[in-house]
Amino acid sequence: MRYVSTRGQAPVLDFEQAMLSGLARDGGLYLPETIPVIEGLDRLDGLPYEEVAFRVIRPFTGDSFTDAELRGAVERAYARIAHDARAPLVQLAPGHHLLELFHGPTLAFKDFAMQLIAQLFQIALTRSGDRVTIVGATSGDTGSAAIEAFRGIDNVDVFIMYPHGRVSEVQRRQMTTPPAANVHALAVTGHFDDCQARLKDLFNDHAFRDTVGLAGVNSINWARVMAQIVYYFTATASLGMRPTDFCVPTGNFGDILAGSIARRMGLPIRRLIVATNQNDILYRALTQGEYRTGEVEPSISPSMDIQVSSNFERALYLAYGGDAGAIRQLMDELKAGGFTISQGALQTLREEYASGRVSEDETLETIRSVRARTGEILCPHSAVGVAVAERHLEPGVPMVTLATAHPAKFPDAVERAIGLRPALPPHMADLFDLPERMTRIENDAEALKSLILDRRTI
Ligand SMILES: *Cc1c(COP(=O)(O)O)cnc(C)c1O
Repeated sequence: MRYVSTRGQAPVLDFEQAMLSGLARDGGLYLPETIPVIEGLDRLDGLPYEEVAFRVIRPFTGDSFTDAELRGAVERAYARIAHDARAPLVQLAPGHHLLELFHGPTLAFKDFAMQLIAQLFQIALTRSGDRVTIVGATSGDTGSAAIEAFRGIDNVDVFIMYPHGRVSEVQRRQMTTPPAANVHALAVTGHFDDCQARLKDLFNDHAFRDTVGLAGVNSINWARVMAQIVYYFTATASLGMRPTDFCVPTGNFGDILAGSIARRMGLPIRRLIVATNQNDILYRALTQGEYRTGEVEPSISPSMDIQVSSNFERALYLAYGGDAGAIRQLMDELKAGGFTISQGALQTLREEYASGRVSEDETLETIRSVRARTGEILCPHSAVGVAVAERHLEPGVPMVTLATAHPAKFPDAVERAIGLRPALPPHMADLFDLPERMTRIENDAEALKSLILDRRTI
């Protein structure tokens, strides 16, 4: 399987190279040159999650891993998800199901991809003897998942930038309490978008990139998107492989893009619904055709508080029919504040994606009403998804809303809604007793580079 950049000017890579590099050297994002179609969809129901994962992922990894290596990685990764079904589907109302993606070690869906890619990095780096420095930007959940997955893995240092004061206490503690010497939490003065912009600065400095063996595990990394395709298959299989709608709380567009790839692989997904909070650039882009960045307004669903949605570039590339020149042009215009999506591409995007935006009050009200009607306690991100899904329910078409985090990860918002703080699962009960370790850093690429050079353990 060959991987090409959305901007068309980076080397074509195999899976392992695309995974280890993250962002393409031309600033673009890697996508498989062709999307494989999966046979035997009707035989997936009832298989263990790991088996479905192996079948879905296998065509994408090409010659990079043997079957035995891939199976071993999948088994080890998902053994750490504390639910036998890994991604259980729970019925909320007739025809409306919640896909619980929060039973992993850091209580958000990010564990599904991060646990797997840590295993794949380990295999690849042990084989080559190479060492890499992973740098990531996080609005909270990617960072905790990355630190948890990569702590103690050989040949890897991990630096995670998060916006100082803008992540929940559980998220912060998950990043600052692991004692492993190879993981480093960096509190940046600024927003998530600043962290993401500094990350891009590092990747675009090719000399620095080569010196430290820079690798990225943000959702710009194709391997993350790939791992997230799997649960669309398990969910649709358990609903009988009927045409199904999916509603996805969306920030960087990685999780929902995985749904779009699943559909291209032959899965009967009818509509993908983008659910956003008040930071609604994607909603505006899909309804008005204008992708314009504004100021981030901090919300009670902080993992979606972003204005530049990295993986949307992949959706645009697909909607523009693989025209890398057009994508380069759009991304240049984005540097000056935004761009207009062409009529043809907008129509293609609208056929695939519906969207909705949810206010803070509606989010709280959804947490309240779902609790009252079903007993299920939603995290604020999942509540944004459920609120949008409820506007799009259609008789006879099952709806699956992705529950992206555990409510205990966002206890303040949940308490505001229902007056009680959900308890952390037992395996994390000591989180508030452990000592924290972090470095404060300015929103400055040069400061970041010297810190990384100084702190690397390898
Ligand atoms: C990361 C995250 C999202 C957004 O997912 P994207 O793939 O960035 O669109 C939504 N909810 C939670 C809890 C998250 O951690």
